[in-house]
Amino acid sequence: MKLDLEEQMGGGSAQSSHILVFPFPVQGHMNPMVQFAKRLVSKGQRVTIVTTISSSKSLPTLNPTSFGSNLRMEFISDGSEQVKGGSETIEESIERFRIATTKSLTSLMTKIRNSSDASQYPLKFVVYHSGMPWILDVARRQGIDGAPFFTTSLAVATVFHHVHEGTLKLPLEEPRAIMPSMPPLELNDLPTFVSDVESYPAFLKLAMNQYSNLKKVNCIFFSSFDKLEKELLKWMESQDWPVKMIGPTIPSTFLDKRLEDDKDYGLSLFKPNVETCMKWLDSKKPGSVVYASFGSLADLSIEQTEELACGLRNSSFNFLWVVRESEQDKLPENFVEEISGKGLVVSWCAQLQVLAHKAVGCFLTHCGWNSTLEALSLGVPMVVLPHWADQPTNAKFVEDVWKVGVRVNVNKKSGLATKEEIAVCIKEVMDKEKGMKFRKASLMWKELAKEAVDEGGSSDKNIEEFVAKVLLI
Ligand code: UDP
Repeated sequence: MKLDLEEQMGGGSAQSSHILVFPFPVQGHMNPMVQFAKRLVSKGQRVTIVTTISSSKSLPTLNPTSFGSNLRMEFISDGSEQVKGGSETIEESIERFRIATTKSLTSLMTKIRNSSDASQYPLKFVVYHSGMPWILDVARRQGIDGAPFFTTSLAVATVFHHVHEGTLKLPLEEPRAIMPSMPPLELNDLPTFVSDVESYPAFLKLAMNQYSNLKKVNCIFFSSFDKLEKELLKWMESQDWPVKMIGPTIPSTFLDKRLEDDKDYGLSLFKPNVETCMKWLDSKKPGSVVYASFGSLADLSIEQTEELACGLRNSSFNFLWVVRESEQDKLPENFVEEISGKGLVVSWCAQLQVLAHKAVGCFLTHCGWNSTLEALSLGVPMVVLPHWADQPTNAKFVEDVWKVGVRVNVNKKSGLATKEEIAVCIKEVMDKEKGMKFRKASLMWKELAKEAVDEGGSSDKNIEEFVAKVLLI
């Protein structure tokens, strides 16, 4: 059954509450939380997505005609107006963000409370990115409740949980980590903040911070789904973690198709070259194209970019490669001219439309959690080349748990994934016979992903239960 968001909202009944959703203003963190917001609206709630004034310049506001007037946006100060030059450390910027958002979010709550329709849509709840645990106190001081939203897999959150609890000691004493309900993780399977503590002390501190008040929350949201991380979910529940899997958090058009006009995330920090990509893909045979992208943040070395360029050029397949504008001067000279016809380089694309295109046969990815979930949900096998943060753990699961692709080996000496290795991995996944097992497994996960968010699916039920609880607050 299709859910028309406008119809669902029906003028503010007693069945509605107002929920704030506050993501970090980074593309990979906004996408899943915006999708969660849309699902809450489809269940009759009013949702305001809160983001920062500083990110507003690059963010088009949500189009109200496509998502209905109950999905709103507010911009609050994160204090960055007062920062002179790029002089802050990561820790200083988080502290400034904490102080400023505590104040500006409190003011926003007061404004919402005093608005003319506050009685029709009483403010009841804040869903905040797990990296902002202080928002729980902000909410509770206002007499409402809050819950964190993790934009990583449950597996990654579990690794950090063990570090936080001291059941995984750092620096690691063994070359592999053994944790309950988890495959053994080698050093290069662990999040880099854990495997390389010296290089990322501020990020490890940030990751640990997510756990500082988790024992006080009634609910923890994950952009994942029950069947994808079944064993871990069972284990976390046995530890009394109130985990609620509500994903995959990707636009409904690519999954259950129940939300009208939900074709993209609706907020983009980059401008996609949609027409160029689609036209080019239309001209290619089914399953003949490797789609390569390393997300919105990865900063590859010149050497790695060159290996990738040669690996893609030397493989026998067509390729569409997203190289962000800031990365393009790392490409080998004349590369774009040399590959014309066989390859296309763009600065950004509509990734979901690309992954859904029949010409695409595999996704060469850095394994950001959104990209991983998108490929799983659209049934596209992967060649994975993780860069940092949670990506190595996602890559491990792609290869060894979900079995939907292969991981490119990195040369121990140079730290590079060589062009030869990249081409071999692409061939393995794209090959008609050898690649069959990956395609089969991918199609299975695609079905399960859709089932989770479809009517009565595990994520759909979790969202409905949450809404029912919020209405009782
Ligand atoms: N994305 C996109 N177009 C591109 C590259 C990426 O729309 O050309 C989107 C992608 O669909 C995903 C997000 O950007 O939703 C990247 O998030 P991810 O977690 O994969 O990686 P991050 O950018 O956080 O490293």
